[in-house]
Amino acid sequence: MHRIYMDANATTPLLPEVMEAMRPYFLEHFGNASSIHQQGQRARAAVEHARGQVATLLHCRESEIVFTSGGTESDNMAIFGLLQPGDRLITTTIEHPAVLHAAGQLTSRGVEVLWLGCDSRGVVSVDALREALHEERTPGASPRTTAVSIMLANNETGVLQPISALSAVAHQAGAIFHTDAVQAAGKVLMDVRELGCDLLSISGHKMHAPQGTGILYVRRGIKLQPLFYGGSHERQRRAGTENVAGIVGLGKAAEIAQAWLATDGPQRLTALRDKLEQGILAHVDEAGVNGAAPDGTLAPRVPNTTNLWFDHMEGEALVIALDLKGISVSGGSACASGATEPSHVLTAMGLNAHRARASVRFSMTKQITEEEIDAAQAILPAAVAHLRELSPTYKASAAAITE
Ligand code: PLP
Repeated sequence: MHRIYMDANATTPLLPEVMEAMRPYFLEHFGNASSIHQQGQRARAAVEHARGQVATLLHCRESEIVFTSGGTESDNMAIFGLLQPGDRLITTTIEHPAVLHAAGQLTSRGVEVLWLGCDSRGVVSVDALREALHEERTPGASPRTTAVSIMLANNETGVLQPISALSAVAHQAGAIFHTDAVQAAGKVLMDVRELGCDLLSISGHKMHAPQGTGILYVRRGIKLQPLFYGGSHERQRRAGTENVAGIVGLGKAAEIAQAWLATDGPQRLTALRDKLEQGILAHVDEAGVNGAAPDGTLAPRVPNTTNLWFDHMEGEALVIALDLKGISVSGGSACASGATEPSHVLTAMGLNAHRARASVRFSMTKQITEEEIDAAQAILPAAVAHLRELSPTYKASAAAITE
């Protein structure tokens, strides 16, 4: 059976060109990038070439890139590296667990954490951040640093935050700004100067590089406490022998993403996502897009993601039904799957627990074809109808409509 992969926000397939770029660094050029001999120098040159490729994607200096083991490490490095007891962090309730739980951990270490919510479209308010930045501190407390961490694109809904405006407000108040750009990298153009962020996290496996690779952009002049202690790798910012092959793959994937962003690829992907969304909603009643305001307007989103609710059924049941028909999608975020709690992102947007549990995320790779979109669109209404056959609430609402 030809499978249709619509779970790119969980992970993406390695591109053949990325595999080819990496292959020699597993086999012939296996040197340690810190060794003085030629094999070491060869590995070092490959790491520095990849650093340049990633710096080009982000429009930053090569020296501002730190290679990590992925998005989770980059987020933790930013948050634990910036904040000390007595400091203050402002973040949001819709972050990925990598930020959410790191921030939660900080509260037990004497860091004050302020949480911002979002509106029904999933957007964080610039005014709310401004107010939080000027909120009175606990009398007697003398916090030193304030940092703000707000994600660029949400992993569940794809909704983009107004990062340039948020970072400008943070800087006016003297705060340092971090953004988790894991779900935006390679999907939208990113210029760290335009975004105005001081730190930015990326994960390789969300952009066709291998799992276990990532970067943290650290603007020149920003001081971070290291997360690990050991060798002096990555300019003493991240101890541990470099994952040379993985870094080479990440660099190649960044180069390919940069080239794709300069084509009509993003428009094509947006059109296919919209076709799927509209096609499904035209054939399924009592369903909608998570992130649509009451007047139907949607917040800006990355091109590949849509998150839909279908009343009178469980999202997980639809995920399983579609899986049996050869379509891979996700209910809530992949990292939270298995959990019975409704999505923290969707509930923050105001969905009740029932509707949050009745939601499914479709996230396409750049390789998705129109035929696959058509096939998914044809299969979905019947799958939803089948699940609803078992639902007493759907029967009641259908009866109410026909009466
Ligand atoms: N941040 C966001 C927004 C994510 O979607 C993810 C992964 O789903 C991460 C961070 C964690 O990245 P990694 O899987 O590379 O640790």
